[in-house]
Amino acid sequence: MESQKIGKRIQTLCGICPSGCSVTAVVKEGRLERVLPNPDSARGVLCVRGAASKEIVYSPRRLLKPLKRVGPKGEECFEPVTWDVALDDIAKRLLKIREKYGAPAVAMYAGRGGYFEDGIKDVFAVECSGEVSSNLLYPFGSPNTASCSSVCYISQGYIAPMITLGLHEEHLKRDLNTNLIVIWGANPLASTPPSTYKRILDAKRRGVKIVAIDPRRSGAASLADLWVPLRPGTDGALALGILNILISEDSVDEEFARKWCRGYGDLKNYVRSFEPEKVEQITWVPASKIKELAWLIGKVKPATFIFSSGIEYSNCGVQTVRAIYTICALTGNFDIKGGLVAKMPPGIKRNRVILEPPNQVKPIGANRYPVFHKYSRCMQVMELPRAVLRDEPYPVKALIVHGASMLTSLPGTDLWRRVFEKLEFMIVIDRFLTSDCLYADYILPATTFYEIESYKRGDNFIQIRKRAIEPLGECRSDYSICYSIAERLGYSHLYPREEELIDFALRGTDIDRLEPESEPLGVVVEGVPMKYRKYELGLLREDGKQGFETPSGKFEIASTVLEENGYDPLPVYIEPKEGPITTPELYKRYPLIFNSGARLPYFFRSQHINTPQLLRFQPKPQVVMHPDDAASRGIEDGDEVYVSTARGRIKLWAKVTPEILKGVVEVNAGGGGLTQPKEWREANVNLLTDPDNRDPITGFPVYKALLCQVEKA
Ligand code: SF4
Repeated sequence: MESQKIGKRIQTLCGICPSGCSVTAVVKEGRLERVLPNPDSARGVLCVRGAASKEIVYSPRRLLKPLKRVGPKGEECFEPVTWDVALDDIAKRLLKIREKYGAPAVAMYAGRGGYFEDGIKDVFAVECSGEVSSNLLYPFGSPNTASCSSVCYISQGYIAPMITLGLHEEHLKRDLNTNLIVIWGANPLASTPPSTYKRILDAKRRGVKIVAIDPRRSGAASLADLWVPLRPGTDGALALGILNILISEDSVDEEFARKWCRGYGDLKNYVRSFEPEKVEQITWVPASKIKELAWLIGKVKPATFIFSSGIEYSNCGVQTVRAIYTICALTGNFDIKGGLVAKMPPGIKRNRVILEPPNQVKPIGANRYPVFHKYSRCMQVMELPRAVLRDEPYPVKALIVHGASMLTSLPGTDLWRRVFEKLEFMIVIDRFLTSDCLYADYILPATTFYEIESYKRGDNFIQIRKRAIEPLGECRSDYSICYSIAERLGYSHLYPREEELIDFALRGTDIDRLEPESEPLGVVVEGVPMKYRKYELGLLREDGKQGFETPSGKFEIASTVLEENGYDPLPVYIEPKEGPITTPELYKRYPLIFNSGARLPYFFRSQHINTPQLLRFQPKPQVVMHPDDAASRGIEDGDEVYVSTARGRIKLWAKVTPEILKGVVEVNAGGGGLTQPKEWREANVNLLTDPDNRDPITGFPVYKALLCQVEKA
């Protein structure tokens, strides 16, 4: 009785985003009242979104019943139906499309709204896809599964490191017990969870030198001893300029280069022309600053490198990431204490359901982006419009959108509207009414992660995600929805039932089912003792031989995979397709460099921009600009402005600050959502971006490094 008054305290995981921070949920009479960080857990942080959990969970805009469209596409005309009616009809219509056009005519797109939660990821995520794309359609016969991995993360987190050193981000860690931290195109303050930021802050207090390479000095970059702002899209040239100086000043670990690298000699020749003065012209970074940066990287040992999606959205995103890995390796900072470290094998075995894609046809985009396909094994979603609108290379007629908002996150919103209009059948699985929902034939309401039981697994720990509250309305978990669709299509036996999930995760480990139940902060196992320079010890290759898990067994500065697929094997620089050098006439009309997609710590991509508690931090979408650029346009801080590109125009509010490079603007992403306030709803940045401007290796769109103009509204 007493506990009902003050609330039951449940130690669990935050249910707002997939990061799974360790929290205590205070629940009173079945309702979530508060969420507090768990100070006793290493993952016991709570970001502002987690602190807004109650408002998000009980938002009046939550979807609570399955809905069926009863009016024209593009309008909010839906009526509630039962789960059975919805699921039976979905299965019937998918099977009918398969019969008429073949299984590949059904495609799926998943986003971070529903995936990344470990339970669903271990069972439904495609292996190697950046782990968001779903395998749900594989047994159905379609290889056409894609996710936000078509436009985010795997270019820098998976493909670039795999082809260069045979490892990917999950195999690597940044040792912040170091002397120099180079943060390049990343803002760990806005990362989820923000725990890396906390560790950088601690390092700063210990006197570790911090360098930030970013057009903006915000978030983590504000901690930097040296801020290197550069023209967006030119990071690759800066990296090659640094290599030029390191090589000419004998600051390279020559023995490592000779013994363990493929293509060092060719790189030496290639970077010769990237002299500081030339790189200054390309990047807008003064030659003296480039030299200072190179000197720091060459001399301060050990150094570690933190980089993120900021560098993958250019016309040479993959190559730029490879160039940065090359700097790290050639300066002797790979796999040493205080450097960029290859992890030891995890202490807890990971159980997964691995399904192979059907191989009758290749997924959409595989021919145009073979390296993306080789590593992601998925459809490149940027090629989906051709399939839907022009039947190329073959028709796609149905789409399942799971926990994603394609109309707000993919470039070319109008193009995607045309795609949705043309589809014969579309399903959306989500928690809120997204703009995509308006084109869906069925909308299936999913729970937040507070309403499910699952687990969070790290290399050396596992924690149960205890259900804090019962599902709201008729919501079902993402897992259960996928399972039910598989069941209706006749192959649910390939997946564990939801109630078997935790047993599935623990199978074959030394952890008894009761242990995590009685350890609410998680069971921690002893990690495998760290060894460095694993390439010398035969610990990086499957066959136990020395070297790297690459085709040559070397650290591939010159990539065999790129060479075999017709790309330049070296980490070459490609000037932005749209910019002052390549399109000078366009630059006269649009004289500012357009940058977008920087994470806002208050929202999760386009999610939660409908939460009053979070909107208080930033009620309106902003364009961040330098005081000189604002003054020359008669713009003051807080003014209403129009941002236009060759493709469209949207209204935002000016944030005038010297913390951004002159000549560059950052345009907030995330707007365009149906349940957002008017100012955000009408500011969909993807009306300005270009679906045809992409990285040639991965097909990733160039969200940064475009051209725009800003005018007072
Ligand atoms: S990062 Fe924030 S929203 Fe995500 S799980 Fe952690 S506290 Fe929750």
